[in-house]
Amino acid sequence: MSPLTERSYPPVLEDQESERLVQVVKDWTIGNGLAVRPPVAVAPAEVDPRSILATSAPVTLFPSPFPQVCFEQAKAVQTAYNELYARISQDEEFISRVVQEVIGGDDFIASLWDVHLKVKKEGYVQPLSLGLFRSDYMVHQENQGTGTQESMPQIKQVEFNTIASSFGGLSALTSSLHRFLAATEYPLLKGTGAHGQYNLPENKSTQGLAAGLRAAYSAYGKSQLGHETCVIFLVQGGERNIFDQRHLEYELQQGSRTPVFRLPFSEILQRTTIADSDKRQLLYHLPSNPSKVFEVAVVYLRAGYGPGDYPNTSDWDARYHIERSAAIKCPTVLTQLAGAKKVQQVLATEASGLGKFISQDTEEFKKIWETFTNIYPMDTSEAGLAARKLATDPEKCQKYVLKPQREGGGNNFYRSSIPPYLKSVSESHWGSYILMELITPPPVTNIILRNGQLEQGGVICELGRYGACVWNQHTREILYNEDAGYLLRTKGDQSEEGGVAAGFGCMDSCSLV
Ligand code: ADP
Ligand code: MG
Ligand code: MG
Repeated sequence: MSPLTERSYPPVLEDQESERLVQVVKDWTIGNGLAVRPPVAVAPAEVDPRSILATSAPVTLFPSPFPQVCFEQAKAVQTAYNELYARISQDEEFISRVVQEVIGGDDFIASLWDVHLKVKKEGYVQPLSLGLFRSDYMVHQENQGTGTQESMPQIKQVEFNTIASSFGGLSALTSSLHRFLAATEYPLLKGTGAHGQYNLPENKSTQGLAAGLRAAYSAYGKSQLGHETCVIFLVQGGERNIFDQRHLEYELQQGSRTPVFRLPFSEILQRTTIADSDKRQLLYHLPSNPSKVFEVAVVYLRAGYGPGDYPNTSDWDARYHIERSAAIKCPTVLTQLAGAKKVQQVLATEASGLGKFISQDTEEFKKIWETFTNIYPMDTSEAGLAARKLATDPEKCQKYVLKPQREGGGNNFYRSSIPPYLKSVSESHWGSYILMELITPPPVTNIILRNGQLEQGGVICELGRYGACVWNQHTREILYNEDAGYLLRTKGDQSEEGGVAAGFGCMDSCSLV
């Protein structure tokens, strides 16, 4: 057995050792920008009225052991996944059918679809699309803990993100942190753990995502209006995970200069206009110098993925304004909709679902198909009625998670909470959910440092693999398709959700075993 899977992992720390490690991690994270703005609980407005404080992102003190076969599996399938989601985005009829199935119980999806229909009517002026994707997985092992022969571990997909796939900017840094600790700190520990024997894969997530942005920026070409071109990061007000985004921005400046502006979603209509020409160029007016105008080549959405960003009808007008413009969107409305959980369910439920996009006798089909776990519709089809039985049964529901068409964490219903929740929803709307089997990865232990405090115990790891893709919606040509590094997020095993920003999880890196 490899040392990292021994019970003694992570090494047992004496008080002075953990104090030393905490100090080193606190300093390294701030020194290198593995940081977030503090939560209100840590720095209330009266303590930090000018929002000048930053604090360490929650991290594990040690990299978590992760099966190498699973790591390689995720890496090997990423460009096939990029192409798959580019193809789905190009298939408006397919997305339309999926949308119709959930729209009855989901006003948010309905509003997104309306934006697409309105732009379609007048005609899209930008055929190019950028996807910065993240495919999330957990490790699954047959017969785990049953005493019978355990099979090879495999990854099973949790979800595929097509909008605001976050943490790429912090994830590469977390890998660097653990590399630094493995070189300087772990060898000083007294415990008999595996220090010194870490297998830490390289992680170029920041560079990978920035390269995708740069590919789209270059593909846009020069301004025909004589302006300088720029990239807009469309963001939420009061974003705490700002450094994650800033690292991508800074990376974009490596090599050639690329003007990047952060624009709060709520200020789109104030700060941008559309040129009075058939081309509908999007123009950004610098607030500090309104006579300075940039033509927007790429709009990168780190907002707009959930209803919270659209409190007023003018916010939908703003999304429409972006969508109809000539800027390359990351993502378009169609690509955002392609990331709906309902799409994942349709792909995973029958081979013909995925087979619509990739021919079934290919290696790519096999690789993607193997990452799916059981996902069921909650509609009135035969499979849907069977799933409704599972979801409403107090015993059987223990193996499942119920998901609405939402992003950003905190929206799902787990195990026992499924039947009472469904009772509170009109049955005519159940079709806008999907039911998914829970993946239960083998147990791992680690120590999490969050807000200066250590939490030690069983953890659950979720691997994300980033991908960057630029394609032409009309000609279907794929101009750029690359793997873009990884994310490992870890949460306490008592928590159902794993979002770092939502306060459940923390940043981690893989030590391959
Ligand atoms: P979101 O788009 O809000 O991130 P996810 O589908 O990723 O939604 O679900 C949120 C979290 O719930 C995941 O990060 C994971 O921790 C947990 N989760 C979701 N689906 C499963 C599953 N099938 N098995 C185990 N955990 C899951
Ligand atoms: Mg998720
Ligand atoms: Mg998601």
